[in-house]
This record gives sequence, C-alpha cells and structure tokens, in this order.
Amino acid sequence: MKIRAKKSLGQNFLHDASVIERIVGALDIRDSDTVIEIGPGTGALTETLVKTGVKLVAVEFDRELVPLLESQFRYDENFSLVNTDALNVDFASIVDKPEGVKLVANLPYNISTPILQRLIEQRHIFSTLVLMFQREVVERIVAKPATKDRGFLSVIAQTGFDIEHLFDVAPGSFRPVPKVWSSVIRLTPKPAFVGDEAIFRKVVSQSFAQKRKTILNNLKGIYDDASSVLESAAIDGIRRAETLSLDEWVTLTAAIKKGTSLTSQ
Ligand code: SAM
Repeated sequence: MKIRAKKSLGQNFLHDASVIERIVGALDIRDSDTVIEIGPGTGALTETLVKTGVKLVAVEFDRELVPLLESQFRYDENFSLVNTDALNVDFASIVDKPEGVKLVANLPYNISTPILQRLIEQRHIFSTLVLMFQREVVERIVAKPATKDRGFLSVIAQTGFDIEHLFDVAPGSFRPVPKVWSSVIRLTPKPAFVGDEAIFRKVVSQSFAQKRKTILNNLKGIYDDASSVLESAAIDGIRRAETLSLDEWVTLTAAIKKGTSLTSQ
C-alpha cells in the first residue's frame, strides 16, 4: 500500500539505517523493557525495536496507518498499537506496569511543546526518553540562562529532566526531505519537584509572556504583589525571565505560593 505523507501530521519518515540504530541504541534496551513509541509512522524505528523483543506499545494518530502497521507486525506478539492522539493519552494506562517505561519518538514540529509538557507531567512512569525534534526546538530545550533561546520550554524541560543532546540528523535521512535539520536528545526524569508544579508552570509561563518586558511587568499581569514576592525571592524586578536560573525559579514559586493573591484566573 502506498502511503502519502501528511504534512499536517508532520510525517517525514526516517529511512537512514544508521540513524535508526543510534536512536534505538540510545534507549539502552533490556529484554524486560516496555517501550512506548509515539508516532510509529511506517514503522522505521518500530521494526528495529520489535526485533529486540521488548514490549512495544505504539501510539499513532493517523487512522490510515493502522492497517499497514497491524499487517507489518501481525506476527509480533510483543507489538501493540493504540490509535489515538498522543496529546490526550494517559501513558500509565496503556502499559502493564507504569514504572521504568522507556519512550521513543520522532516528533512532528507542531506538537513539540504540548507533547513535552505532557511528558513532563507524566515523567514519573519513565526511566529514559529518547526524542527527536527539529533542531531549533532542541536548541530551545537545552538553552542555558541568559542565552537567546532560553524560554518557557527550556525552564520546564530542564526542571523535569536531565537532558543530553546526543546528535543531529540531516534532512536527507527522511522522506519526504524536510527543510530543516533534526536533533536527538535523551531525557532522564528528575526526582519529584520540590514545590507546587502547577504554580511553577504558571509563573514561568507568565514571566515569559512578553519577552521584552521585565519579570516584574510580566508578573504584575497576574499577581497583585509581584513586587514584594520578587523582593522576598531576592530577584531584581528589572531582570528578564531568561536570566533566571532553575534555583531562582524554584525560590520564586515558593515565594509566590507563600505570599501572593492572584489578580485574575
Ligand atoms: N516514527 C516514524 C519515523 O521515524 O519514520 C514517523 C515519524 S513522523 C516525523 C511523526 C509521526 O507522528 C507520524 O507517523 C504522525 O502520523 C504521528 N503523529 C503526529 N501527530 C501525532 C499525535 N498527536 N499523536 C500520535 N501520533 C502523531
């Protein structure tokens, strides 16, 4: 069956065997592993993974790919397919044992931020995640404080995970050939966050709402006493959000939880 790649679902299928080997190698597979793959597509990574003997649960949104994948892996008892949107999945509910799970995905650009947010929220069931994103997205994910790519994504990703940038992948490794390079990263979940994660996400998101504004002016939008909480967290209100370290974000969240009232929401 001939498959026409859908641009709307970010379908650029991997065909470079050495890249596939490196991605699967980065998962450090053990026989007893359960691996979730988001977006198996035409099965490029899936095939190599299934051959290792791991329990592989694939989550594919594109209904048209279902018969193809089911036929391709019909003799593989360690393969199962969930035809749904990965953005709505409770990952714990699709595996037998929701701990130490590994996850692999070559992700479409348009869902990188929401999928990463979901993985952060559900990170406690995972031991290792190997993800491929557009290279520019990875530059934002790994950006250090006070660099131009530092933003909401960098802060929330680095709070949830230890992140290793593994390697870059040239456009020619995919069909159809995309305009951009991709990068592969490995994420290891950090222990539970010390603090209130919902407030943390809200504070970080609001602080980056308008990048040119100071952190004080951004936070004033939702917190009455933004000025005094910044002071109690020892953060100068004229700084911009991208200059804050992870520790400073944690301190600021704690100060806000302790001492503020919301002006809205
Ligand atoms: N893993 C395959 C490969 O490397 O060749 C395909 C990668 S392709 C870049 C992205 C895959 O994610 C496609 O199969 C696409 O249909 C699927 N996809 C897109 N959005 C999705 C979503 N919200 N939930 C699950 N799968 C999705």
